[in-house]
Amino acid sequence: MKLGLDIHGVIDSNPESFAFMSQSVITNGGEVHIITGGSWTTELENQLKDYGIKWTSHFSVYDYLVNSGIDSIGTIQFPDGTIQKKFDYDLWDTIKAGYCKSNKIDLHIDDTEVYSKYFTTPFLLYKSSDDFEKISHTDIRKHM
Ligand SMILES: [Mg+2]
Repeated sequence: MKLGLDIHGVIDSNPESFAFMSQSVITNGGEVHIITGGSWTTELENQLKDYGIKWTSHFSVYDYLVNSGIDSIGTIQFPDGTIQKKFDYDLWDTIKAGYCKSNKIDLHIDDTEVYSKYFTTPFLLYKSSDDFEKISHTDIRKHM
C-alpha cells in the first residue's frame, strides 16, 4: 500500500505511533509518502529521523508552488514558527489531493479537513489528543 502522512498536527502530534506505522508499511513492501505543507528542509528531515519515521518519498506543497513560479499573495506562519510565502488558499488546498491522485496513494492521513473536498484518494481525518483538549468539559456535560 501507499500511505500518505501529513507532518504538522499528525506525525508531530504522535511521533511514536506514526514511526511504528511508517516502519511497518515499508517493512511489508509498501510506500510511505510524507506530504507536508511547509518547505522540506534538512531541519525537518532530521526531526523526522529523530522521531524514527521512515519514508520512501516526500512532497512539500510550498516547494511545489514556489518551483511552479506561481505568484505568492503575502506571508504565512506555520505552527513551528516558520514564516513563508503565502499562496491562494483555493489553490493551496487542492495540491495534496493532486499529488495523491497522481502518485496513486491508497490512503492519506491529515488534520486539515478542508483538503478532503478535493480528494479522490481515501482521506483519513486525524484529530490529535490536543484537539480533544480544546473541547470544553462543560459543553460535553450539557449533552449527557
Ligand atoms: Mg497538518
